[in-house]
Amino acid sequence: MKTVQTDVAIIGAGSAGLPAYRAAKAVGASAILIEGGPYGTTCARVGCMPSKLLIAAAEAAHAAAHTAPFGVHVDGTIRIDGPEVMARVKGERDRFVGFVVESTEGIPEADRLIGYARFIDDGLLQVGDHTQVRARSVVIATGSSPYLPEMYRKLGDRAIVNDDVFAWNDLPRKVAVVGAGVIGLELGQALSRLGVDVTVIGARGRVGPLTDPEVKAYAEKVFADGFRFFARAEVEAVSREGDSVRMRYRIGSDTSDVVEDTFDYVLVTAGRRPNVAGLALGNTSLAVDQDGVPVYDPLTLQVGSHPVFIAGDVNNVLPLLHEAADEGKAAGTNAARFPDVAPLVRRAPISVLFSDPGVAMVGARFVDLAPGSFVVGEVSFEDQGRSRIMLRNRGLMHVYVDKSTRRFLGAEWIGPDAEHIAHLLSWALQMKLRRHHRDHVSLQRIWPNDGLISDICAKEHQRPFQLVNFLRERQKSSFLRLFSFLNAD
Ligand SMILES: Cc1cc2nc3c(=O)[nH]c(=O)nc-3n(C[C@H](O)[C@H](O)[C@H](O)COP(=O)(O)OP(=O)(O)OC[C@H]3O[C@@H](n4cnc5c(N)ncnc54)[C@H](O)[C@@H]3O)c2cc1C
Repeated sequence: MKTVQTDVAIIGAGSAGLPAYRAAKAVGASAILIEGGPYGTTCARVGCMPSKLLIAAAEAAHAAAHTAPFGVHVDGTIRIDGPEVMARVKGERDRFVGFVVESTEGIPEADRLIGYARFIDDGLLQVGDHTQVRARSVVIATGSSPYLPEMYRKLGDRAIVNDDVFAWNDLPRKVAVVGAGVIGLELGQALSRLGVDVTVIGARGRVGPLTDPEVKAYAEKVFADGFRFFARAEVEAVSREGDSVRMRYRIGSDTSDVVEDTFDYVLVTAGRRPNVAGLALGNTSLAVDQDGVPVYDPLTLQVGSHPVFIAGDVNNVLPLLHEAADEGKAAGTNAARFPDVAPLVRRAPISVLFSDPGVAMVGARFVDLAPGSFVVGEVSFEDQGRSRIMLRNRGLMHVYVDKSTRRFLGAEWIGPDAEHIAHLLSWALQMKLRRHHRDHVSLQRIWPNDGLISDICAKEHQRPFQLVNFLRERQKSSFLRLFSFLNAD
């Protein structure tokens, strides 16, 4: 058995672990990066990248099928070649993974260990059966794994998770997606647009990440127009019949509300669980929560008062790539500088469901705002100019503005290309833009600002005239100007 000493040991070479390693090295510490699985990260292998590749193929198919209203006719049948679709998804995905693997393998060999790590005590790790690592600080960046509830396990290879979709060589005929979160809706819509017969079965009325009831109800209708979608249903029974799955699910309280159907696969997107089981945390003095995750400070990512930090999906808070990267960097720096730890400066919250129309959230969620403390600016995309031009005029946006401070708090919406507005809003929120910034902002009109501004004008009782005058004076409007006005002293 080999024993090595290091300042910082990082468990997991994913989107959090890699920046943690680099951050620790950047402040002069020695560091060892430990990875049990293949290099390449969840994001590139089975997450963000292949899901967006599948969505891109779905968008191409959808666009090809919807040209006629523009007077552009694609004559003949549109043929979706499943093996070709999956070959491109996997080929491009492998290209992306290749870059990550190359950069990970560029880390000096002495700083890398292959094997699953588990704690022997607070500062001693066993890696595989070959090495022990004595570390001054540890960063846990082990990510999360898809959760497969017990009832689906008996279905064998017909119960699948997102990882399995990206291993397909062809598209199946008919799939039930269990779970209406971000992953379920992204994959459900993409598969449906690629000609797969899709049923998405949610459990608790969830529609992606949305918490605003009106936006959620609108989004539910939009998705239900594209494929069978039940946001609030209950799967009562599943069984395997040959190479198919027989499923019984309930969509209401009447006896007639029970549906029986047969699918090629059940794609279970019922959440993810932090990868902590293999860490043998019982051998440490770290306190853990009900999910077995070490209890940590969300600002410094430090576990109790220990020289242990936890970053990325494993900490079970914001399972997003950019959050994992930011947390990894902060955890690596804090681990290297321990006991001199500093809080992580989080970016403005932003999350996007890459559907069409897209779903996005920026800043505070509706559900987290105190009732009565804010006004809601609303805009519909149905009559919004640019959206109609593109024939993509479906959507509803709610923007929340604090009544007393007039500050922009957050927004939830479904609408065309939602990610672009999301970036702009999160930028405005992050920059805490104020009125004096307006002259430096050269961005022009960005839809759907006009409707939104009128609506907030009507509701912003404290300074409606000033707001109107401000907009008149400028003659142009944009979200940035709106928010710099709202945030003005
Ligand atoms: C289908 C899907 C789509 C997504 N789309 C998006 C998107 O569009 N935008 C976005 O922002 N986010 C998206 N995400 C989320 C994003 O992929 C994750 O937030 C990110 O990958 C988390 O990085 P991480 O470092 O925490 O985990 P990972 O990248 O999973 O890294 C953890 C690593 O730890 C290793 N490991 C685990 N246990 C041990 C151990 N005991 N010893 C050694 N190594 C260990 C694992 O093998 C793994 O390599 C998506 C996720 C999925 C699943």
